[in-house]
Amino acid sequence: MPRLKDFKVPPDGAKWSAGVVRAVTLIPGDGVGPEVIGAAVAVVDATGVRIDWQHQFAGAAGIKRYGSPAPDQLLESLRATGVALKGPLETQVGEGYRSINVYLRRELNLYANLRPTQSFSGVTTRFKNVDLVIVRENTEDLYSGIEHQVAPGVVESVKVITARASRRIARFAFEYARKNQRKSVTAIHKANIMKLSDGLFLKCARAVAKEYPDIAYNEQIVDAACMRLVVDPTAFDMLLLENLYGDIVSDLCAGLVGGLGVVPGANYGDRGAIFEAVHGTAPDIAGKNLANPTAAILSAAMMLDYLGHPREAGRVRGAIKTVLKSGKTVTRDLGGKATTADMTRAIIHAL
Ligand code: NAD
Repeated sequence: MPRLKDFKVPPDGAKWSAGVVRAVTLIPGDGVGPEVIGAAVAVVDATGVRIDWQHQFAGAAGIKRYGSPAPDQLLESLRATGVALKGPLETQVGEGYRSINVYLRRELNLYANLRPTQSFSGVTTRFKNVDLVIVRENTEDLYSGIEHQVAPGVVESVKVITARASRRIARFAFEYARKNQRKSVTAIHKANIMKLSDGLFLKCARAVAKEYPDIAYNEQIVDAACMRLVVDPTAFDMLLLENLYGDIVSDLCAGLVGGLGVVPGANYGDRGAIFEAVHGTAPDIAGKNLANPTAAILSAAMMLDYLGHPREAGRVRGAIKTVLKSGKTVTRDLGGKATTADMTRAIIHAL
């Protein structure tokens, strides 16, 4: 079993494991990133799957080290490996460089953001048995980054919706539903107001839905969907959303199952994937050994599935369930007293 001192993030360019099988770009990121990604690496290594971790810097850490939030070597590594395990990156509000998360997802054409959001026994929340899968379009919408000042005091942000990207994300959702025995897909929209853009998104979702008669298809306006989610989340199965609604609604759903510390995520494209928790850099608890490593470790389990190690991915999920259920070694956000390192050690022990 790796000892805690062994799972500090390795120095730039260093290899994590001997006996290399698969190269994966490792981006510890900013804030709590190095703590939770260090935990995820330790758990993956403890499964016995050998990975050649290629440590790279991005965001504020990239600026500090190389003077760029997206250094050339990061992009080269991502293009070579096609797979990354990534911590959160800091993005300044209302100023500074554009989000590197958005940039990386677009650069690698990782068009589908998948966020499985489930209740865990042992984690006290208002609802039990929440089991939602959120599919968020990752490449367009108001995240197009097209903003300009028309005149002093007047700005425009451009919402871009294309039929191609809308069909592609709808197909991803229905394919996922079919492969994973899900029952329904609900497209979330505001087409009563944005008749053209959200209207096109819906039109594409409806057309794709027709090809999947075995999966029920529903539609709901985003505000009503938020209300319904907080009253009865079991009314939904899979949610299909544009970029901005997907971002907001997935944080709302995280709140239904115990918070941002427990919800994993993955960004998929046709030729690669980046695995990262839903949460951000959590500056209020960064560097204090308080962050919940669950979301990062579950994201690493999604990576193990993607790399062809479903058995090990299942073992990781089982170990997390055991630790959460016992409730003895959980972090402060879940009502416990354990540190990030304590909880990681307990998860490795449960493996
Ligand atoms: P946040 O997710 O960092 O934090 C929101 C709240 O959740 C905080 O109270 C935090 O302590 C808590 N939290 C988050 N992760 C936790 C964990 N693992 N364990 C326990 N508690 C946890 O959101 P924010 O404060 O709005 O954003 C902070 C920074 O992160 C911003 O710069 C933002 O741009 C960035 N961000 C990055 C990503 C990403 O890289 N994918 C995602 C979201 C936000």
